[in-house]
Amino acid sequence: METKILKGHPVSSAYIKSLNEEIAKLRKKNIIPGLAAILVGDNPASKVYIKSKERVFKKNNCLTKTFLLDGDSKEQDVINIVKSINSDPLYHGILIQLPLPKHINARSILLEIDPKKDVDGFHPINLGNLFEGNPQFIPCTPHGIIQILKYYNIPICGRHVVIVGRSNIVGKPMFALLAQNFEYGNATVTICHTRTKNLNTFTKKADIIVAAVGIPNLIKGDMVSPGVDIIDVGINRVEDKSSKGYYLTGDVDYNSVLGIANSITPVPGGVGPMTITMLLSNTIESAKKMLEY
Ligand code: NAD
Repeated sequence: METKILKGHPVSSAYIKSLNEEIAKLRKKNIIPGLAAILVGDNPASKVYIKSKERVFKKNNCLTKTFLLDGDSKEQDVINIVKSINSDPLYHGILIQLPLPKHINARSILLEIDPKKDVDGFHPINLGNLFEGNPQFIPCTPHGIIQILKYYNIPICGRHVVIVGRSNIVGKPMFALLAQNFEYGNATVTICHTRTKNLNTFTKKADIIVAAVGIPNLIKGDMVSPGVDIIDVGINRVEDKSSKGYYLTGDVDYNSVLGIANSITPVPGGVGPMTITMLLSNTIESAKKMLEY
């Protein structure tokens, strides 16, 4: 079986085209969708993500500003910035770049974000709305994954999806989207995690696997069944002797599933581009909603 490679860039380009019409409409009303990002410390991976987000927002005529704080900033310093952005009409979205330094409680910060500007969809009010079946802001990575499945005509309804990983930013909202009676939902969903025994017995029963673990090459060819569709969310830096000093790889052992899987998202270039696209989409939605208030 030839495994189809589900690249994220074509999906992202098509989606951004439709967003550009929305951006133009808003700009006619003198509204420029604006995102404020907060980066605490100098985690190299976080800096790369923030740069990519800035590039996409600027390229699409949207406003973006990154608030940089030293790694030893206090929790209250971060909260003060969140509060000032909450009341600043220039910004329709707030993003806290995770992970935060260990001395800062991420939940305390997330709770300070105005849910109407929570374009990451991580605030408990937005996660609650999603689980209730009435989403306002859908977390960007799971939402981007749905767009990939839709674009490549991969059926979801009635299929068995095995999600590996139960984080608040990927695993749990992914479950909420796939299991509900939504147009691109109605799957039967199993969630696996650190305490799952014999992971391979679950992954072998999957029609679709969503791997969001953070362990390079955890899922191998002998753990999946022929015809499975694989979404590899993992972005793992593995040190090597190249000039960069590392290479990126997913949670799935890519080469070992080729020829077995029906399809797979590559790392990099699969889910990653869609996460930023959906952040842009949520920021535009937020700007549109603010027009209505
Ligand atoms: P996390 O560390 O918050 O959660 C990892 C999850 O994996 C946990 O729920 C844990 O229970 C589960 N897990 C760990 N070891 C396991 C094992 N051996 N078997 C089964 N389950 C196991 O991670 P996260 O924030 O959800 O991110 C996961 C990966 O996805 C990371 O590599 C991250 O960089 C990547 N990521 C990529 C994007 C993107 O845009 N492509 C977005 C978010 C996260």
